[in-house]
Amino acid sequence: MAVPEKSYGDDMAVIGDLTEDSLPHELKRRYERNIIYTYLGDILVAVNPNTMLPIYGGEVGIVYSEAKNLKDLSPHIYAIAGKAYRNLIWGRVNQAILVSGESGAGKTESTKMTIAQLARMSKSQEPTKLAEQIVEINPILEAFGNAKTTMNDNSSRFGKLIEVMFNKQGKIIGAKVTEHMLEKSRVVHCGNGERSFHIFYYMFAGLSQYEIEHFYLSRPEHYRITDPRHGAPVFTSQMDYEANKGGFEELKEAMNDTGFPSQIVNIIFAIMAGILHLSNIEFAPDPELQQLIIVNEDEVDYGSRLLSLQADDLVTVLIASSSFVRGERIVRLKSMHEACDGRDALCKALYSRLFTWIVKRINQVIHVQDDQDRYIDAGIISLLDMAGFERFQVNSFEQLCINSANEQLQSFFNTYIFSWELQEYQAEGIKQPKIKFTNNNEILGLFFDRPIGLFAILEDECRLQMSTDGTFVDHMNKEFGKNDVYKRCKSRDPVFTIEHYAGQVTYNAIGFIEKNRETLGTNFISLMQNSHNWLINELFDDRPDSNTRNIDKRNSQWTVPEWNQPNMPALGPGETLSKRAGKKIKQRTNIDRPLPAIPNSSSTSTSVHFRNSLASLMENLKASEPQFVRCIRANAEKQYGFFDVKLVHNQLLNTGVFETTRIRKLGYPTRMHMQDFINRYKVVGFPVTESVEINPANCDRILQKAQLYDYQIGKSKVFLKYWHVDQLNMCLEKF
Ligand code: ATP
Ligand code: MG
Repeated sequence: MAVPEKSYGDDMAVIGDLTEDSLPHELKRRYERNIIYTYLGDILVAVNPNTMLPIYGGEVGIVYSEAKNLKDLSPHIYAIAGKAYRNLIWGRVNQAILVSGESGAGKTESTKMTIAQLARMSKSQEPTKLAEQIVEINPILEAFGNAKTTMNDNSSRFGKLIEVMFNKQGKIIGAKVTEHMLEKSRVVHCGNGERSFHIFYYMFAGLSQYEIEHFYLSRPEHYRITDPRHGAPVFTSQMDYEANKGGFEELKEAMNDTGFPSQIVNIIFAIMAGILHLSNIEFAPDPELQQLIIVNEDEVDYGSRLLSLQADDLVTVLIASSSFVRGERIVRLKSMHEACDGRDALCKALYSRLFTWIVKRINQVIHVQDDQDRYIDAGIISLLDMAGFERFQVNSFEQLCINSANEQLQSFFNTYIFSWELQEYQAEGIKQPKIKFTNNNEILGLFFDRPIGLFAILEDECRLQMSTDGTFVDHMNKEFGKNDVYKRCKSRDPVFTIEHYAGQVTYNAIGFIEKNRETLGTNFISLMQNSHNWLINELFDDRPDSNTRNIDKRNSQWTVPEWNQPNMPALGPGETLSKRAGKKIKQRTNIDRPLPAIPNSSSTSTSVHFRNSLASLMENLKASEPQFVRCIRANAEKQYGFFDVKLVHNQLLNTGVFETTRIRKLGYPTRMHMQDFINRYKVVGFPVTESVEINPANCDRILQKAQLYDYQIGKSKVFLKYWHVDQLNMCLEKF
């Protein structure tokens, strides 16, 4: 372990001739010497090394936490943690560390390192179990929220905000995690070469044979969720298998340390197994009965046992829907397509609600436990780890949400950087140059305005029975025809293009309406509310006061209500429930079985949740002083040692780094303290032997001699345009 040495280019902002072309090359030069961190003024650029460099850990952490002046050390993620911590404790200003970058760029690793360093700094006050617990929550969040994708073997499929609270003495007193936009479609569908969420594979690798049988599971290839298709093995090698097994052990340990009782852990695994079975259910038309029947009854039985449901009820809601119209119960049989959609919607809802519940449960353990007074005294460091701007060949609803959230963050970033510039000019008492930055208000309006913004139109369309993805795009074409940032597209598909700050993105609206509607039917919700499993009841308790009730529970003892565990002996190989019973299970088609229908009132759409959570996120950030970390992928191959300049260029554009350099260039990118300026350039204006006093007049004389104009001299610094430095250096060469 060693603290990396300070080197040329540690702060690129002081390099006068920095351009869009030269910045990636400068980063490359540093990367080739294993220098992955670079400042650009107050922003930290972090290039993913794809290998563990010996620049982390306790010893290095202590050097950064004890440094008098962080700028005396080389750039590091620990320095950002340190800066936030000091500004919070000494300056009493809440801090927000915004980590951004595309998939695989290193956001989550940077966030984890920042939290570890914060815990280290907090611990130097006195060790706390809580600080350790906060570090421990990551394996839980990652097991349920991360998956292997083509971009990243451990890709976060949700955005998260972690708020760490400190008391006046700098000790961690609590934390809170907020999750945003879990990619729940991944439960039942993922692209080629990708996987569903880690937890499913961890279970197959880590559960004992007894547990596997207890959950009625067989091989992972048997399940639609974990089957990699095309004959590929679920685990790519023995090493991969061991890694998943290790992941499972780490998860169990983390859950234990975070205070999840083993009964609850078991229930969670049972629900996961239930989802595996449910997702496998297949339907077939029965011409005689003129309705759908279930092809694999076993999966229904296993699934309903694990979820403590009446199997008959489950079948009924899968193949038919019932509702009350003017007091009369109307039963409608589902088409094959509707039945499959309903099954998948149920799997997705169970998974995402359980994920939210787990996060809530973690929060109950790590929340501020002290009395209110100490809470009021506390300061907060928030860490945001959210997917960066995305542009794929086909861009869908998920990209639209992610990119519109990034527009919001970009607007925040621009305003902030811009105001930094102005603050410095004011502090130095110099004239403010005319700087225009690309403000993205127009695009924010396009997305979020009401009543006529993209999301408002989508929500309107979702309320109408007859809407299609096509009518949604037609509606937008009509409303946004004259908007500069919206472009209609000529295509048979419902597509449209948006001019984002980071470039054009064409979205394909196929599936938008369905994805945005809360697709889980009320029959499913009432089925789940009638489960004998208390946890499932709680997941589907949508009453508006359910949140408060959960918060009330925080302070009470965590008791485990009795759960109807499946207590039958495990099945042997090839044995099914029906074989064991020695009779064929009756085909369940009893659609007359009355299901309690619940009112259709609280069905909000995905975009409403999204807009609300984004609004509260922005409110939170605006009340804090931000620290920006821009993570960059060096290459698409996840390799160590190769730096793809073009790929990096693109990311610098997408994360707004170029915009920052542009703003700086329009202003005065080079600022030198008068003393440094006179020491370096005095020969340009004075005889070599003369001793020159440090004052504005003498700086001015040097600049006049070099025949420069358009510079400014403030109270302590000289403000120069980038070409001024070239000119001054040329003058120096003459001596
Ligand atoms: P996603 O948006 O997909 O979640 P991400 O930006 O969070 O991506 P990470 O998961 O943090 O990306 O990083 C991807 C991988 O890159 C890590 O699993 C790790 O192997 C490697 N990595 C990232 N940062 C570092 C680092 N500072 N040192 C060593 N390896 C790193
Ligand atoms: Mg991540």
